[in-house]
Amino acid sequence: MTHPRSSALDIALVGEGGGASAVTPVEAGADGRTNIFDFDRPRLERFFEEVLGEKKFRAHQVMKWIHHRYVTDFSQMTDLGKALRAKLESHAVVRAPQVVFDKASADGTHKWLLGMDAKNAIETVYIPDKGRGTLCVSSQVGCALNCMFCSTATQGFNRNLTTAEIIGQVWVAARHLGNVPHQQRRLTNVVMMGMGEPLANFDNVVRAMSIMRDDLGYGLANKRVTLSTAGMVPMIDRLAQESDVSLAVSLHAPFDELRDQLVPLNRKYPIAELMDACVRYALRKKGESVTFEYTLMKGVNDQPEHARALIALMRDFDRRVQMKDAAKVNLIPFNPFPGTRFERPDEQAIRAFQKLLNNAGMIAPVRRTRGDDIDAACGQLKGQVLDRTRRSAEHRKRLQAQGDVHAA
Ligand code: SF4
Repeated sequence: MTHPRSSALDIALVGEGGGASAVTPVEAGADGRTNIFDFDRPRLERFFEEVLGEKKFRAHQVMKWIHHRYVTDFSQMTDLGKALRAKLESHAVVRAPQVVFDKASADGTHKWLLGMDAKNAIETVYIPDKGRGTLCVSSQVGCALNCMFCSTATQGFNRNLTTAEIIGQVWVAARHLGNVPHQQRRLTNVVMMGMGEPLANFDNVVRAMSIMRDDLGYGLANKRVTLSTAGMVPMIDRLAQESDVSLAVSLHAPFDELRDQLVPLNRKYPIAELMDACVRYALRKKGESVTFEYTLMKGVNDQPEHARALIALMRDFDRRVQMKDAAKVNLIPFNPFPGTRFERPDEQAIRAFQKLLNNAGMIAPVRRTRGDDIDAACGQLKGQVLDRTRRSAEHRKRLQAQGDVHAA
């Protein structure tokens, strides 16, 4: 690749150890009013007490109006007094992301392109499946981590999403689905697996996940909210202290030499350190498992020696956590995109890889491709990114050199 990888990593790690990064926009909008979507319950309670001089339970009423009934206009919050509604009007706003378009797939998958500001848009995808409905949520506009097989990586990186922009994705989808928390659950799971590295936008992601799990928010059980990371080791430890969600790790290779190429973050946090952090995460709570995502790429990481090394890594994890099947593996056949040099293995190779894992006693489901007809499959999420890393321009140049006119 022509991109200077170290500088890409530097951008991604701005927030490391220090919470929200310098690129996270402030909460108040251009009109000076605070967006209520930026607040989880403790912050909204403080806002009501300290800024509005109101009782905490008023904050709870407002959360229910927003996240259970999808009302954003204070004047329609009829159990609040007129004076409070007027006060809210002058101090706050409930501003959801703007739906640029949405598209339904023949298989029930639904995709939204959401405008985050004048120049940036991100995608959010809903995937219904046998009694569950999973929403794949983005955490950043683009991504700076530059994983070699990732479509998002080719678009470069602009900025972190705010708490409002992250929970706003859930709100848009839940409203569209007619989801009623605790009663009519259409949205049962959230995976932070869309655009971006969630742990590089730690504070905003943790706050948004707290609203997802709050009874006054979307009431999802802790284990039904999953954060997927490429392996930001110190932030995995911080997550263990500050939040209680399921952890998924984008592993994709069992050897450092190969993972250094596929996931450049591995040069900073190699596999042994990553696995140590995963063990610490799992051990914080009895019976906790960690999911390892493994994207299968033809001739790259789909050979028997890769399967054997993966089995050894997972077995070692189970042994250290002292629980059978503590390590769960998801196999994801690669979804090609324009300009990529990687290919999807054929069905036989995918099954052969899976069989080796199964024979070793591991379950290792192959993730079915969903929403293919609307480009909503895993690794295909796109948006419009005002790219500060210049990676998208370089990717376009490469595509033009290859004569691919669909480059943009
Ligand atoms: S795979 Fe995830 S972490 Fe890696 S570049 Fe893509 S979005 Fe970023």
